[in-house]
Amino acid sequence: MSTHHPADDLLLSLAAGSLDRASAIVVSAHLESCTHCCQQLELLEAVGGELLADIEPVDMEIGAFSRTLERLDQPVSVAVAQVPVVRPDLPAGMHWPRSLDGCDITPWKRLGPGMRWSRITVPGDPQANAFLLRMAAGMELAAHTHGGRELTQVLYGAFDDGRDVWRAGDLDDADGEVHHRPVVTAESECICLVALTGGRTRFDGFVARALGAWMGI
Ligand SMILES: [Zn+2]
Repeated sequence: MSTHHPADDLLLSLAAGSLDRASAIVVSAHLESCTHCCQQLELLEAVGGELLADIEPVDMEIGAFSRTLERLDQPVSVAVAQVPVVRPDLPAGMHWPRSLDGCDITPWKRLGPGMRWSRITVPGDPQANAFLLRMAAGMELAAHTHGGRELTQVLYGAFDDGRDVWRAGDLDDADGEVHHRPVVTAESECICLVALTGGRTRFDGFVARALGAWMGI
């Protein structure tokens, strides 16, 4: 059961289809494992419908929530059905979020000892900046803040960035107000799905900064 959830604005823009594709993949991955947020989204849409009904007695958009769920069930449409999908390995028992269906996911690339990443390409959206980060137990990511918005869904394991512990199922929403140094907890390795929008990661150190620039994050 996750304890960190996307804010209402993210849920609503996902439902409205106005969220950028990279962020939508991350928030959708969260919804797949969070009944709380599915219910919250339903509630928000009901409230939104009431408000609309009060001010505008015209045809309302009904069924947005069910359409959102339908969208979550549908892989991103792209003509890859016949091509066998090769994806990087995962720890035993971990499954790919359905929101990544149709995306191209590179093999794990080594960033350093105990640290690997994989670039995610979203079909039809070359600007989408999404990736997976896989770090061994106890590893820490260089301290950084954000030029834009960083959405992180923990898919496996957990990390502690001083603000709190983020476990599998949790979503972190960080921007330029947040300066953190995520450290993977001791129990196991950690895999996160990350989307960046509105600006790059701003690492403190020169080496991390150079590595980040090379990764395009
Ligand atoms: Zn949630």
